[in-house]
Amino acid sequence: MEIFHISAECYPVAKVGGLADVVGALPKYQKTAGHDLRVVVPCYDTKFRNENEFECVHWGTVKLGNFNFPFSVLKESSNKLGYELYLIEINELFNRPNVYGYEDDIERFLSFQIAVLDWILARNQIPDVINCHDHHTGLIPFLLQFAFKYKNLQHVKTVITIHNGLYQGWFGFDKLYYLPEFDLRHVGFLEWNNCINSLAVGVKCANAVTTVSPSYLNEINYAANGLESLFNSVRKKSRGILNGIDIEVWNPLHDHMISENYSIENFEFGKQKNKEKLCGQFDLDPSKPLFSFIGRLFEEKGGDLLPQASAQALSEHFGNINILILGSGNSEIESKLTQLRNDYKGNYNVFIGYNEELAHLIYAGSDYILMPSRVEPCGLNQMYAMRYGTIPIVRRTGGLRDTVIDFGDNGNGVCHDQASAADICYSINRAVKLYEDKVSFNTVLKRGMAADHSWERVCQEYIEIYNLIIQQNEI
Ligand code: ADP
Repeated sequence: MEIFHISAECYPVAKVGGLADVVGALPKYQKTAGHDLRVVVPCYDTKFRNENEFECVHWGTVKLGNFNFPFSVLKESSNKLGYELYLIEINELFNRPNVYGYEDDIERFLSFQIAVLDWILARNQIPDVINCHDHHTGLIPFLLQFAFKYKNLQHVKTVITIHNGLYQGWFGFDKLYYLPEFDLRHVGFLEWNNCINSLAVGVKCANAVTTVSPSYLNEINYAANGLESLFNSVRKKSRGILNGIDIEVWNPLHDHMISENYSIENFEFGKQKNKEKLCGQFDLDPSKPLFSFIGRLFEEKGGDLLPQASAQALSEHFGNINILILGSGNSEIESKLTQLRNDYKGNYNVFIGYNEELAHLIYAGSDYILMPSRVEPCGLNQMYAMRYGTIPIVRRTGGLRDTVIDFGDNGNGVCHDQASAADICYSINRAVKLYEDKVSFNTVLKRGMAADHSWERVCQEYIEIYNLIIQQNEI
């Protein structure tokens, strides 16, 4: 089967969050399962682009209304990622350091989608399945079916995978003329709330919809930033598939970004060494439990709760716990978290920014990882943390509900239900007590380390969906 994954992010090419990790790993395992895999992402000005060899396999011009953007399709020469990687180079729109956050993001990702389809059309081979990821690729299922110029690709089957339904890629009908000419009888597929809503278009037009955890599939029926009724109406063609993790990249035994490698056999020594390195770097006390947070500092992640919860926990356990935060996002949250440094010197620190290497060291050197999310479609941090012998403290929501069970129920983590500073502190109190009982603490930790979160288990579920839509057009 020839499968395309089309996405805005892919690790290690360009990463903002979990989308990159999934698109970087799932195709590798699908390839190992015997399929023909191609991953396509925009060509940003990133380290990966600048440090690897590419060959140009196609070029053309994207027509976006009155604008014409020359583009090239660059293939990574060595196939070092385990699948064929293609970058769509549109210099005027993507030769920039960041993935998102520009005023012309709509034009950027529309051009990307059109360039990808122009190239696929020009090849001699019609793919079996195109797996789109999130709203940046949501128009592809519509364009394939209804744009006149892609008539030869009309029967290609499509899946849209929703990694985060909060972001939807809206734009006004004044930009309708950007789209390649299509059969106007189908214009209704584009509309949601008087706008063109890219995610809604993908959900309406794809043959199948997947979310990145079963619980998230349930949640979007009542909380999906305005798309609840749409998700209800497509329930029959939807599946929730829990993400795996790339156990080659995330392996404490071989990870070269941490200071001491270890496995479940010798984790006590290995984790202590990593903790000492981390605490040395951030002026923390390695003899005390270390609670860390890694992630985007936004409300959806519970980032706004962190300043109050940290202050309260650090006061209650004065001098007896450490808290370390790695993240960036909302500037108000960032500055509140930075200010706390003065009050809890020696037990609290924060690194504002994105740092992949530091994230690995934090997973290895912490005792607990905090995930107080309001919304968590799957969440990868808790799975990475468990693999590195770090116990997750989570709010039960989305994928966190599917992967973390409270230690009171013989589980692998610490859970609470409300998105509040009080609930976080209550969980921290329970975690401090657990930490003091080394035998129970190690039992919970080892449950997490022993769990199988590998993609092999999950990859087959995607293949089953592809087979169903190829055979019978639906699932
Ligand atoms: P989301 O995609 O919603 O941000 P996920 O839990 O699915 O959340 O994935 C987050 C990924 O991004 C993980 O690999 C995590 O380690 C990484 N990450 C998030 N913020 C940072 C940061 N500031 N520095 C390094 N890695 C980060």
